[in-house]
Amino acid sequence: MPEFVATRRIGDATVTVISDGTLEWRPRFAITEAERRRAMPDAAADGTVRLGLNAVHVRIRDASIMIDPGLDDPSSAWQRAFAQKWPGVARSPGLAAALERIGERPESVSHVVITHAHADHFAGVAFERNGSLAARFPRARHLIGLADWEGHPARADAESDHAARLGLIDDLGLLDPVEGAREVVPGVRLVPTPGESPGHLAVHVQTGGREFYYLGDLFRHPCEVEHLDWAPPNRDAVALEASRDRIIAEVAGRPALLVFTHAQFPAWGRIVRTASGGQRWEPA
Ligand SMILES: [Zn+2]
Repeated sequence: MPEFVATRRIGDATVTVISDGTLEWRPRFAITEAERRRAMPDAAADGTVRLGLNAVHVRIRDASIMIDPGLDDPSSAWQRAFAQKWPGVARSPGLAAALERIGERPESVSHVVITHAHADHFAGVAFERNGSLAARFPRARHLIGLADWEGHPARADAESDHAARLGLIDDLGLLDPVEGAREVVPGVRLVPTPGESPGHLAVHVQTGGREFYYLGDLFRHPCEVEHLDWAPPNRDAVALEASRDRIIAEVAGRPALLVFTHAQFPAWGRIVRTASGGQRWEPA
C-alpha cells in the first residue's frame, strides 16, 4: 500500500498530511495547446492530470484540528456513488485509518475547518452508520465560510451532500459559519481567500517562529502558481487572482511550509521567486 500519512513538527504544532487518494481532473483553462503542454508535463494525451487529495490534521497544544476531511470512507455507499461521477478516483485506506495511525480519536477533534463547500473537501464530516448519517467529529466546532453556507443553492436539494452532510452538522448545532478572518485557537487563523468559492478559507498556522499554510483550492495544480490568472471557467477568476496575489505576497520567498489540497502527496511545498520576477511551486 502506498504511504498516505506524513507528519512534520512545525514549532509547537504537529502537522499531518493525510492522503485520501487521487483523482483525475481535466483543466479547462483558456490557453493554447502549446501552453498547456509546457505548463502540465504530467498531463495525459487528452489533457487529464492526476491530482492528489490531501486533508491535514493539526495538533497544537490541547487543540485537535481537522482541515478538509475529504471523502467518506472507501467502503461507503457514498464512495460508490462518487466513483460514478469521478471514475478516475483511487482511494487510500482513508481518513479513519489515518487518524488511528496517528493516535487521534475523532471524538477528540476540537475543530473541523472546511476550506470550501465542495464535496471532495467536506463529505467526510459525516459517515454512514446503520443506514443513516452520523457526525464523524461529534464534539468539534465545524468552521466554514459564511458565503459557502448561507443562501447556497445546493441546500434546497435534500439529496445534495451540502444539505445532507453539512445540514446534519448544522442540525446538531456544530456548524459555525465564519465571516471574514477568524482565530481558531492561538496560532491558527482562517484567511478569507475567495475565488474557488465565495467563502473559501485558507488556514495559517504560526508557532515557535515557524509557519504553515493549508491553501485548499487556491491552487489545484502547480501550473496555477506560475499562472495566477488561470482558472476553470465557472470560478470567479478576478477574486481568485486577487486571493492568490495576497497569499503570494505573504509567503513567496519565505520559509513558510505550504500544502494545497490537490498537490501530489505528501504535498509539502514552498513558493519560490523565479529570476523572471514570477513564482513557482517547489516541493519541500
Ligand atoms: Zn478541490
